[in-house]
Amino acid sequence: MIYNIAIDGPAGAGKSTIARRVARELSFVYVDTGAMYRAMALYLLRQKVNREDPAEIERVCQGAEISIEYKDGEQIVLLNGENVNAFLRTEEVGNMASVSSANPEVRKRLLDLQRKLAKSMSVVMDGRDIGTTILPEADVKIFLTASPLTRARRRCLELEEKGVFCDLAQIQKDIEERDRRDMNREISPLKKAEDAVLVDSSDMTIDEVVKNILQIYREKVINSKKRAE
Ligand code: C5P
Repeated sequence: MIYNIAIDGPAGAGKSTIARRVARELSFVYVDTGAMYRAMALYLLRQKVNREDPAEIERVCQGAEISIEYKDGEQIVLLNGENVNAFLRTEEVGNMASVSSANPEVRKRLLDLQRKLAKSMSVVMDGRDIGTTILPEADVKIFLTASPLTRARRRCLELEEKGVFCDLAQIQKDIEERDRRDMNREISPLKKAEDAVLVDSSDMTIDEVVKNILQIYREKVINSKKRAE
């Protein structure tokens, strides 16, 4: 049987850490769709597109071929054949991704790839529109969130661990700006699917959130098996 778990939510809610852990517990594959949008953004930055010009983004994004490989359980994003994982996690790329992902042509180019992955194997897929648009039939849908300040603090810790200076107020401002763009765009805005379970991780540990999601998954799967009997 193939199972799909969708985890959506705003930037810095802990989606990737949680999704990776849930996938490991269930021996599913973790699919990070944000990394695909970041790879596209990296390409657009390298091509020096004007981020205010949707027509230019639409035209230039046609030159980016994004594909995915898995090595030792880790997702590797290939941009025109180049492994770009090392370049994806900067604030510059994240902010560009939040602008360019509002472009319908950018989304169209990544939609098929995401659906095909989920069809071919059991996945925990995280993003913004997985439960609403990419996998509306997902077995389990989680909307993972946390307060903007909590999310900014987490991002800062991540950056500081990498030895990067962090301005908490600026990071919080960027996060709020990114939320605003992700939630208000016309195409596939960030929003909780009606049948998604809301999990607010502000006062929860990673272990608690993982346990909570595994329990939701087990209840769902056991219930659906019971119904099928
Ligand atoms: O999750 P992450 O911060 O890596 O995503 C970067 C940006 O990509 C987000 O701000 C969002 O605008 C976009 N994104 C999206 N749809 C997804 C995943 C990410 O629009 N499924």
